[in-house]
Amino acid sequence: MSALVVVGAQWGDEGKGKVVDVLAEQAHVVARFAGGNNAGHTLVVDGQQIITHLVPSGCRYPGTRCVLGAGMVIDPDVFRKEIEQLRARNLLQADELRVSLDAHVIFPFHRLVDGLREDSAGDARKIGTTRRGVGPAYEAKAARRGVRVRDLLRESDLRERLLKNKATLDPELHRLGAPESALDVEALVELGLGWGQLLRPMVCDAGALCHDAIRSGQRVLFEGAQGALLDLDHGTYPYVTSSNSIAGGVCTGIGIGPTLIDRVWGITKAYTTRVGGGPFPTRLLGEQGTRLREAGAEYGATTGRPRDCGWLDLPALRYAARLSGMDGLCVTKLDVLALLPKVEICESYEDDLDPGRDGFEHVVPRLRTLNGWGDPSLAAQLSAPGLRAAERREDLPGPVRAYLDLIEEHTEVPVVLVSVGPDRAQTLRFADAF
Ligand code: GDP
Repeated sequence: MSALVVVGAQWGDEGKGKVVDVLAEQAHVVARFAGGNNAGHTLVVDGQQIITHLVPSGCRYPGTRCVLGAGMVIDPDVFRKEIEQLRARNLLQADELRVSLDAHVIFPFHRLVDGLREDSAGDARKIGTTRRGVGPAYEAKAARRGVRVRDLLRESDLRERLLKNKATLDPELHRLGAPESALDVEALVELGLGWGQLLRPMVCDAGALCHDAIRSGQRVLFEGAQGALLDLDHGTYPYVTSSNSIAGGVCTGIGIGPTLIDRVWGITKAYTTRVGGGPFPTRLLGEQGTRLREAGAEYGATTGRPRDCGWLDLPALRYAARLSGMDGLCVTKLDVLALLPKVEICESYEDDLDPGRDGFEHVVPRLRTLNGWGDPSLAAQLSAPGLRAAERREDLPGPVRAYLDLIEEHTEVPVVLVSVGPDRAQTLRFADAF
């Protein structure tokens, strides 16, 4: 087995950063295939927190090649800062980063238009974007006026692309009150050529790189951003991200065929969170929601926004598992659930509505309270050092085992890994990733 895809199974923030960090230790290549710096992955290394937005979470292993695929949109200023921070901590060696020539580039005017649009939309119409210019850059890509990394390497191509953007965006920028200089083509050409110099040593054909690595028997890990329910085509549209976050996104976002992929693991929290607008059937309002948010420190890694919190939604998880063809589930933050006085779960929706067929807007969850949870000794058991060394499911407390059984029963996907704390050591693995 040499190609593993790891994707979020909810609305993002499932703890992908930590799980990928754990799994990447065995990988020769870690590649991201979608999204931009709207993602934020939190890793804890030797008690130190590191948040990466663009560089794949596998970055800290010497010799692991990290690839940014064509399906991504890259803000080179953010990328440069991230590289500097990682290098300063000795976490990124020279020559380990590769960037697809076909990835798209975020310019300051993308960020500007993103923010101005959110500001001018009424509360009910806000998507809740991260205002990093990700949506407008994908929009330009679909409209065939996007600027790719390869365009930064050739001045005439870059100028031509920017002129196209100016012609399209100037009227909107003007209407939204942007300064006249917002899309100064010559200043942007200069900026873009500077970025080209930064990126030139890293550019590659990411599809060929990953293809050749897999074919030669190397272990390649494809790291997702956001989660299945934010997928542009299959998520809770229009409250979605602008790219494909399900496993199929690997093929288009990297440029390899589906026959090269061996496994797909999905990551889910033991409960559910969401930021931004859009439906969230098991959302907890009031004190219960606040308690879960505090227990799980649920504030966005990218924006610091408080996340809405709710119980685990099994119909939604089953839907996400189907969309990506998951053959393994990683369940994170079980320790957080153990801190609560009562735990509920959604096993089905009223009238047996189905998310794929009926959507998420109008479903009403049927909730059940779970036995055995709410006992303070459970949290102590999950944080016990002895558990860290455990490798068998039988070593977990009874209510936690029953919880995992329930997840497997509803999703028909085996639980292959559980996480009981932010540290790498707080991980139990029941199956090999490669
Ligand atoms: P990602 O974007 O999917 O990587 O998720 P984030 O990094 O935004 O959010 C996950 C947060 O939960 C981070 O702060 C992690 O350090 C933390 N985390 C991950 N796994 C666990 C866990 O099992 N227990 C606890 N308590 N925290 C965790």
